[in-house]
Amino acid sequence: MFTKIIDGKLIEKAEKFIDAGQRFVLTCHEHPDGDALGSLLAMSAFLRQLGKTEVWPVVPDRIPENLRWLPGTERVKVFSDESDVCLPLIASADVLIFLDFNEVSRTGRQLAEALRASAAVKIMLDHHPYPADDARLIISQPEMCATAEVVFRYICRTGNAGLIDYDMAECIYAGLMTDTGNFSYNSNRRDIYFIIGELLDRGIDKDALYRKVYAVNSIGRTRMQGYLMDRGMEILPEYHTAVMTLSDEDFKRFGCDASETDGLVNLPLAVRDIVLSVFLREDGGLVRVSLRSTGDFPANELAAALYNGGGHLNAAGGRYEGTLAEGVQRLKEALPGYFNKQFPKEQTTDTIGKTTP
Ligand code: 5GP
Ligand code: MN
Repeated sequence: MFTKIIDGKLIEKAEKFIDAGQRFVLTCHEHPDGDALGSLLAMSAFLRQLGKTEVWPVVPDRIPENLRWLPGTERVKVFSDESDVCLPLIASADVLIFLDFNEVSRTGRQLAEALRASAAVKIMLDHHPYPADDARLIISQPEMCATAEVVFRYICRTGNAGLIDYDMAECIYAGLMTDTGNFSYNSNRRDIYFIIGELLDRGIDKDALYRKVYAVNSIGRTRMQGYLMDRGMEILPEYHTAVMTLSDEDFKRFGCDASETDGLVNLPLAVRDIVLSVFLREDGGLVRVSLRSTGDFPANELAAALYNGGGHLNAAGGRYEGTLAEGVQRLKEALPGYFNKQFPKEQTTDTIGKTTP
């Protein structure tokens, strides 16, 4: 068995709200990833298993290609394509369930407005630190590796582990796998592996799921990755940092778009002594930024300070209006302060290959 972590009172309250509810809208953050979508679909399926008939999963925008196979995706409404359908659903819902975000603004401007305006009971299930006071009931578990873990535990704690079927198990596994980089970071707690055992008992094929999510790159994306590593990455050895950029023009050249950049930010962390990777790319008039770090370097603080963002200690993101060069410049100006704080002088003398193309 695993340890009980979520406060029992919160579980009871959530159960009461859900019992009493009839019309449910569930939603997640913009640019849904495997955890956002996986936890959204697992929770939606759970509500249906409970006998709820009006259950509407809504994602703010486009579902990435490599996640469209997730069971239940066909029922998901995409707000950016169908706001005329989603807005009445939100307005008439009596329960809203927020998954994998810690503040409503993470769903995008128009959807956030509608969610805020709703009088429904709002329940947040999440694992990002510092939840905003945006829901009536907040189950926030930053120690957990994924919101999918929160969902799995919630279902079990309500005595409904038996309702987790094969499809739900796939969704939960997808959340755990993608938010931990296939269990390569934020994944040292033994409970995670207990949960995986339970999911395997439901018949999932974890090796096949890995390939479905990660082994589906287009040739364009593969070539763009080569370009990014060769020409698009600058190493700042004194700050143990890699900074990478891709412009609209780069995307065009490789026949890709900004949705095909998942995972690229992690690549520099495989370089010896790199502790911070920052990846900036142009995306629909904005620059979108992803940050990854190792150890206790606070990627989320940097994201908040430089790029209007936030996130986890080791995985954060943000965005700004401006040029790629401005974002790189902001980083270069900020790093000395961070590294003096993070690494006392004697530890920064270690060198990383100074070869920058
Ligand atoms: P990604 O680089 O995959 O887009 O985001 C990495 C992590 O940072 C995710 O956990 C995501 O939820 C968080 N994140 C990304 N953008 C933002 C943002 O603008 N604000 C906050 N608070 N978190 C963000
Ligand atoms: Mn997550």
